[in-house]
Order: sequence, then structure tokens, then C-alpha cells
Amino acid sequence: MKGTPFDFFVQFHLTERCNLSCRHCYQSASVSEMKYEEICGAITELKQTIAGWAIDYDVDISPSLHFTGGEPLLRQDLFEVLGFARGCGFSISLMSNGTLIDKAMARRLREVQVADVQISLDGLEGTHDSLRGQGAYRRTLEGIRKLVAEEIETNINLTVTRRNMAQIEGLIDVAEKLGASGIAFSRLVPSGKGKALMNEVLTREDIARLYDELRRYKNGSKIAVTSRDPLATIAEMDGHIPQTEVPMGGCAAGVFGVTITTDGTIMPCRRMDLPIGNIKQDSFRELWIDSPVLESLRTREEYHNGCESCSYWPVCRGCRAIALAFARAEGREDYLGPDPQCPYL
Ligand code: SF4
Ligand code: SF4
Repeated sequence: MKGTPFDFFVQFHLTERCNLSCRHCYQSASVSEMKYEEICGAITELKQTIAGWAIDYDVDISPSLHFTGGEPLLRQDLFEVLGFARGCGFSISLMSNGTLIDKAMARRLREVQVADVQISLDGLEGTHDSLRGQGAYRRTLEGIRKLVAEEIETNINLTVTRRNMAQIEGLIDVAEKLGASGIAFSRLVPSGKGKALMNEVLTREDIARLYDELRRYKNGSKIAVTSRDPLATIAEMDGHIPQTEVPMGGCAAGVFGVTITTDGTIMPCRRMDLPIGNIKQDSFRELWIDSPVLESLRTREEYHNGCESCSYWPVCRGCRAIALAFARAEGREDYLGPDPQCPYL
């Protein structure tokens, strides 16, 4: 419908190189990086595809590119890439570990007009450093201070595990004191290096408790306490659920966005390593329509053992990456089965 903005984002991985080596990182192999010209070609193709949708479907689309890695600040041409993306009309975000952000870097990020920077923390100091290496926590906090000093919207991301679940209140306090804009929580996807952390994954009961807690903190906090997790979103709904056969919210994979990895591979979501093509060779516009994987993610009847008969399907569908990771742990290649952490199943 004209006038209804439709968010569309691409998580764009620029490198797999990183200055840290986190135990739970979902980057699992070293692959070639796209050259600057190839990245610009990909961004141009995305821009043209989105312009085509706006005309064909008569919708207003707010497109954004979320640049990440590895550590994207290790890319020498990062600011050229960011500038090119801005010039093509995309809102741009950066996802970083924050340890390489000094005053000059923060100023350049402001000048290139990043809409926000997302910085990962994994817990309070001892927990964070046990996953990311000694001293990482302090360097990350320094990076956040530099971003805040430049008045850049800065959000902290926390992957919640059994190890850090008890630290949520402390982390919200840290985020408030740093002057961050918000703190966002996500679930651990036990794939890639995260497979080794299977015993850190929360139970269904933990998840229900977590979202209760987040609701409480959301009301009492000076900063935004959020989660993009579909299950968190529905925990906050007021009871009105649109009953459609078309996704209206929830898991974004292949519905409101995709991921492009370092070598140009296109996947529904980075945490769900199901390649559907490559931006260097394939037409994005055709893949978006023709990919059987993307089509299945948007089709209620393709789901089984839970979501297909759930009234929350249009606004949830669970986390498909977690469903896939748990199915793989049992030897099945199935991304449309139940989200094993869903408290509503
Ligand atoms: S069954 Fe699926 S759609 Fe329903 S609440 Fe659970 S994860 Fe969401
Ligand atoms: S698969 Fe999970 S992590 Fe990926 S977009 Fe969906 S909910 Fe988010």
C-alpha cells in the first residue's frame, strides 16, 4: 500500500578478518573478500531492485545496509564503501566489536552519517573477556564512549546465554552509564563456533523468564531495552494478531531482508547458512522471487510441527536459524520445523 513504509535490510559482511577470536562467533571459515568494485556493483544492484519493487508493488521502501564482518573496521576501504552506500540512498549501520574505535574513527563515522553503530558485549567484564580475550571489555567500552561523544546512536547487542543471563540488570546499568542509546538482546544460535556452546543455550523456561524480565526493565530503564527476536516481539503484543497468510513481522530471514557474506554468497540470514546464490553472478531480483528457500520461509504450509498452526505465524515464525541448528544437531537438514525454545509450543 502506498504510504506504508516497508523496511528492507541487507546484512552485508565485508570481511571475515577479526582482531578478536570469540568462542561463540558464527564466522567459521576464511573465505575471499569482494573487491571494492564488486561491493559497489552489489549495492547498485540492490538499489535498482528496490527501486523496481517500489514501482511494481506501489510501496514506499526504507532500505538499509548493515555492514559487519569479522570486524568491518579492518577493511581499508570501509569509508569508501559506506560513502557509496549513502550516495545510493541507503541508511547505513555498522556492527562492530568496538575495540578499534578511537576518537578519529568515531568522527569519521559521524561524518559519513552512519545511522547507528551496534556493539557486541557478552556480559560483564569477566564473562566478556573469557569469550573475547583479556582486555577486550575495557577496549569495547572505550569505543562506545567515543561513539557517544560524537552523538552517534550506539546500541549494545548481547547474545543471552546461561553464562550471562544473571548479568542483564548489570549490563543495562553499564549501558545507561555509558550513555548508549539502547541495549538489545538476542538468543544464541548454536551454529558455527557457537556449536561448542550448546550447553550455554537457554531452555524454553529460561526464555519465558527472560522476556518477562526484559518487559520489566523496558518500563524502568532510561534507555531502550529491546530484542528483535520474534518471540520477544510477540511477548509484548497487546493481543491483536493480524490473521494473514503473508508475514507481517517476525523472523526477517528471506522476508524483510537477507545476508550477503564476504564472498558475495546470499543467505536468508547469516545465522542460517543456506546459500541461495551469489550477488556477483546472480540477479538479486530474480533470486528474491525464484529461490525455493526464500519462498518456503514465506509460506505457512511449508512449516511443520508447530508454527504452521500457530496464530502468531504472521508476526513470529520463530527463529529459523535456531530451528535449523537444533535440527542439524539431530542430523536433519530442516529449517521449517519447530523453534525448540518457543514457550508457546
Ligand atoms: S509456534 Fe512458532 S509462530 Fe507460534 S509462537 Fe512459537 S515460534 Fe512463534
Ligand atoms: S533466523 Fe533468527 S537471527 Fe535470523 S532473522 Fe530470523 S529470527 Fe533473526
